[in-house]
Amino acid sequence: MQLYQSNPIKLYNSLTGKKETFKPINEGHIGMYVCGPTVYSNVHLGNVRTFMSFDMVFRYLKHLGYKVRYVRNITDAGHLENDADAGEDKITKKARLEQIEPMEVVQRYTVDFHNILNTLNFLPPSIEPTATGHIIEQIELISKIIENGFAYEVNGSVYFDVHKFNETYEYGKLSKRKLEDLIHNTRVLDGQSDKKNPQDFALWKKAEPQHIMRWPSPWSDGFPGWHLECTAMSTKYLGEQFDIHGGGMDLKFPHHECEIAQNEAAKGKSPVNYWMHANMLELNGQRMSKTTGNTVNPDELLSGNNKFFTKAYGPSVIRFFNAMSSYRSILDLTNDGLLASEKGFNRLMDAVNLLDDLKASSTSSIGVLAWKQKCYDAMNDDFNSPILLAHLFEAAKYINQIKEGSETLSSEDLDILKDTINIFVYDVLGLKNTAKSESGTDKLSGAVDVLIRLRQDARANKDFAMSDKIRDELAEVGIHLKDGKDGTTFSTN
Ligand code: AMP
Ligand code: ZN
Repeated sequence: MQLYQSNPIKLYNSLTGKKETFKPINEGHIGMYVCGPTVYSNVHLGNVRTFMSFDMVFRYLKHLGYKVRYVRNITDAGHLENDADAGEDKITKKARLEQIEPMEVVQRYTVDFHNILNTLNFLPPSIEPTATGHIIEQIELISKIIENGFAYEVNGSVYFDVHKFNETYEYGKLSKRKLEDLIHNTRVLDGQSDKKNPQDFALWKKAEPQHIMRWPSPWSDGFPGWHLECTAMSTKYLGEQFDIHGGGMDLKFPHHECEIAQNEAAKGKSPVNYWMHANMLELNGQRMSKTTGNTVNPDELLSGNNKFFTKAYGPSVIRFFNAMSSYRSILDLTNDGLLASEKGFNRLMDAVNLLDDLKASSTSSIGVLAWKQKCYDAMNDDFNSPILLAHLFEAAKYINQIKEGSETLSSEDLDILKDTINIFVYDVLGLKNTAKSESGTDKLSGAVDVLIRLRQDARANKDFAMSDKIRDELAEVGIHLKDGKDGTTFSTN
């Protein structure tokens, strides 16, 4: 008997707007696709939040005994800004600015992405396909959509005919938009565009002479439209219909809506049974976004080298922070929130580190099995990590009470407590026991604080040579002091 048989999951399906009991197409197997990053710049913490939420989902499904095929793509074909019809693609633009090959841009930021995810203790997906590795599949898909009458070619470019599609299918069913409203809210075409209607979207674009990333096709030397790669790669690796498709909320429209339309137009089938959308990470109350520049990158938070936060935070604190809210809620990255999660993480780990010292008794005064089930129930309820954390803190309280002798556990129950904590803290939430290194960090902070105070004394005595010496010698060993209006802080890198 596998754990998933006794743990049915209720999953919020963005397509139906309801929590539904999850049932995979093939018992015991799950196909899950998550839209990956566009590798033209460093990932920011907003991107990481979405991927981290699905890392937790992947971890929990695996823990339940499902065989999960998790596909997360790399978007390495340049797409035009905002899916526009003209102009330069994001990767080529970066290549021009940095005077390197587009594929060098792609390589640089793919490596950065992997390094960051590794540092943050992500599990690798089962398959990580690239858009440029699947041009042939994308071309085949376009041919099929044209053949079925839902796309048309103009001047070497191919567009998806949304109006035609909507006569047979329902465009907008995921994002709950109506084509009439979309028509009403979009500007009329200015006569320059090749499209029949503004709502149509590109499946293939003919490359302008200066466009570097290009491939031959039956229509022109060009490049695929943004939405096509995910349809091509999900179909190839998970089939025409699969279980879960995830991504950030901002991708629901147009990206995921168009994915559904492409699949239906090519194969006559809605591709995904459960759509999951992770909510946005904000930075001090505003959406974190590459376009507005309101971003913090993971390495800036890990090193403390940023203008927003007073100190550096470890990888497990970042994971803990993410788990403190449901993946479906907006999460605001603030100094107070990070400090609170650091405190919470340390408190939880202090209790976990007492586990091996606990002595078993002949009887149990705590219902460990009921507590264990509550942990599963939390995750079975649409991966509710904040509720799971509340139960883990309940266990932290038990651990302290058992240590003090006010509660008892039999040796069998003690084993259940230890196993369950290990499962949820390490396997599911992906936290790491950083007790040793964290206490090392505490000692380092203490020592640097002593030096900061000595430097303040030196300044008060107008001994600026000594003050500078302390700052410079600390910098030589990688500890950088930062003088601000609230005093001096430090960062390491
Ligand atoms: P991109 O590289 O822009 O294609 O984005 C990669 C992933 O990050 C997508 O799933 C986006 O939905 C997600 N994403 C972008 N910004 C945020 C944000 N502020 N919070 C959460 N997820 C985000
Ligand atoms: Zn996608």
